Amino acid sequence: MNNDLPELGILRRSWTAYADPSTTHEVEVAGVRIGGATPVVIAGPCAVESLEQTLAVAAAVRDAGASLLRGGAYKPRTSPHSFQGLGQEGLEILAEARRRTGLGIVTEVLDPRLVETVAEFADMLQIGSRSMQNFPLLIEAGRSGRPILLKRGWSATLTEWLCAAEYIALAGNRNIVLCERGIRVAIGADYAKSVLDLQILEPVRRATPLPVIADPSHATGDAALVPTMSRAALAAGAQGLLIEVVLNEESRATARSDARQGVTPDVLAEIVAAVAVA
Ligand code: PEP
Ligand code: MN
Repeated sequence: MNNDLPELGILRRSWTAYADPSTTHEVEVAGVRIGGATPVVIAGPCAVESLEQTLAVAAAVRDAGASLLRGGAYKPRTSPHSFQGLGQEGLEILAEARRRTGLGIVTEVLDPRLVETVAEFADMLQIGSRSMQNFPLLIEAGRSGRPILLKRGWSATLTEWLCAAEYIALAGNRNIVLCERGIRVAIGADYAKSVLDLQILEPVRRATPLPVIADPSHATGDAALVPTMSRAALAAGAQGLLIEVVLNEESRATARSDARQGVTPDVLAEIVAAVAVA
């Protein structure tokens, strides 16, 4: 089987030094190498909701052994009536969390006009599932010089996903980490938010040297399923995990987005321990 996708140019597996399928183009984020021998755990709240909440979760994430802190200041919400994120204030809170914990920051950028601003605060820019084919955003993000976390659109094919990465690469930035975050299927809505597409991980690794991680939080929408799906993703070829965290059950009750899927810090610590022996 020819593993090169014809649509890909510079990101195909045969690209320069990466013809050997066991090699990965490692992406460095704030001193953390993604795609190396050790899988990386990126963890944090869905949204930055307040200074207090973010600092508490950030400290818990660091103590649990995660390598990078995630959290959205700009939130892509299905309903315009839902909490949209704290915006600029959220970015400043994330910067404070980095000062206190030393963890690099991964945060989403939604709007091409805000790439420069978000890039000032972020160590890695997240392009969300809904934005995967926002081509002007991909190009701006590529120009920012920051490493990019590119989530798969929930109905994107492998080719569409990798072509989105190719837009970023053509804008001058190959420091891209792919993230499988669940796909929509006709069944499934009665037991989980979407379905973690474990079987795409290996074809991704055959097609491109970019690292690929998995997000069992958004795929399942259910904290109870996250530990098992984390282990499954690593077994299937994921080189890291993106995990949402709530501080405790009390803060789950008041969380303003994705409350059900956040794991508590003790569960995160178990996942990190499982990753270390994977
Ligand atoms: C998120 O990471 O909080 C998020 C909104 O993810 P996705 O784009 O995968 O839905
Ligand atoms: Mn979320």
